[in-house]
Amino acid sequence: MTASRALRALALLVVALALVGGPPWDADLDGYWTVGAGPLDCNDRWAAVHPGAVDVPLDGIDQDCDGTDRAEGSNIVLITIDTLRARNLGIYGYPRNTSPNIDALGREGAVFLHAYASTSWTIPSLASLLTSRHATRHRTVQPRSILPAEMPYLPELLQRQGYETATYIQAAYPMLTMGFARGFEVMEKLANYKTPQILTWMRQQAGHRFFLWVHYSEPHTPYTPSPPFDKLFVPESWKDKREVARFWTRKECEESYDKDKDAARLRMGFYDARIREADEHVGQIMGELRKLGLADRTLVILTADHGEEFFEHRGCDHGQTLYDEVLHIPLVLRHPSVIPPEQRVEAQVREVDVMPTVLEALEMPIPPGIAGRSLLPLVRGDGRGRPLMGGFLSNTEQAVVIRHHGMKYVYSPNRTALRQRLKQENEELYDLVADPGERQNLVLSGHPRLEEFRRKAKRWTGGPKPPATIEAHFDERTTARLRALGYLAPAPDGATPSATTPPKPATPVTAPASAARPAVAPPARAQ
Ligand SMILES: [Zn+2]
Repeated sequence: MTASRALRALALLVVALALVGGPPWDADLDGYWTVGAGPLDCNDRWAAVHPGAVDVPLDGIDQDCDGTDRAEGSNIVLITIDTLRARNLGIYGYPRNTSPNIDALGREGAVFLHAYASTSWTIPSLASLLTSRHATRHRTVQPRSILPAEMPYLPELLQRQGYETATYIQAAYPMLTMGFARGFEVMEKLANYKTPQILTWMRQQAGHRFFLWVHYSEPHTPYTPSPPFDKLFVPESWKDKREVARFWTRKECEESYDKDKDAARLRMGFYDARIREADEHVGQIMGELRKLGLADRTLVILTADHGEEFFEHRGCDHGQTLYDEVLHIPLVLRHPSVIPPEQRVEAQVREVDVMPTVLEALEMPIPPGIAGRSLLPLVRGDGRGRPLMGGFLSNTEQAVVIRHHGMKYVYSPNRTALRQRLKQENEELYDLVADPGERQNLVLSGHPRLEEFRRKAKRWTGGPKPPATIEAHFDERTTARLRALGYLAPAPDGATPSATTPPKPATPVTAPASAARPAVAPPARAQ
């Protein structure tokens, strides 16, 4: 046999082996072999399938060779950070380094650039997140509301699938008496700086699938970063003002924000420092997942219940208006087998889309009647946004917000205290493309789309009758805690605030005494 004939025979053999997908070649030239050391190719005839590929869930193909076509069997870690507005994070373009760990999480997965909460305070927002229902349906819109027991609730759905479930809630833990504890085997109040207790629980779940929901409250008022975070974004030279602005009440903030620019900057500095502190906890959780070898088998979701106002529309705090500073929330999803890294999704999405996303990723049935749709098609390149409908502020102060196709409509017939003080209109329409700051109310000039939004709002509020709100009854201690958080109105007899009220500033201040008062229980419904 001549050399050329031998070569031809060898080439034929290579082609024949490649055609039958047989070893020992990398026939599809994707860099993964079918025999030998290292991760092996499970399909050597298709270059898109190999252990380094990203799986497209539920398309019938196991792209990443892990034996499944989905995130089935994955752990779920849901991190919600109270009062965290998207615009103050690096991944959303903020120049200050408030979020190195959250930014890293975003780079490893998908960042939803336009994610919105449907309301601007904690309880109804988290209820929507975990039930994928609008507040008009779940009716958990009062501090004493109870989440309807018959309503499908993500933690319970996962528990029924055999998941170990735990929740650690900081500050807003009285929610656990409002029906939010359903489906959790472990429910703990998360004291400050107690992320280690969460890490211990994660270590104890070895060999089990788990669902962990952590709710951090750092960026919520009062803005009290602990060392060394307290010095991060606030110059030392301002220390005579350090204790002033962070303890402003809503009203003091509204009255002083524009007059005292330094104090206003200081307030933002402390808020940013608290974000950095929360970010540190996120880093610890991600570090533990890596240490346990679970980072690639866990769907991590990071989001917030609402944002915060820093006088963009002459208001402070949250729960009073529906402008983007309180509705635009961060949303990051990370699961290396399901979500390609470095995804930046432009389409508008909502908090109600989170629950169906988790269920689709795990190939669990999606309950009928929910308001959200899975986000997985968006990370696969489908660019269609979803209309945001929301706005319920409470049973007594109803409002509607519709955010769709670059326009935003707000109708608030029962105006909040802030709106009454500022004499704001009860109907607003904004062109978000031309006016992202929501400054030019187009209702006043009679925009051609106004009637269309009015009809939509009417249809939405006039939908099927929701179940009646069920009321919770709290013991004395819980009532006091709820008052301190601003969930409940102050005691009618003017009783002194509970022991959980934020402490008075420890250092003397030079500002007027009224400005140094701690932000105790803003009227009625805060959070
Ligand atoms: Zn909140």
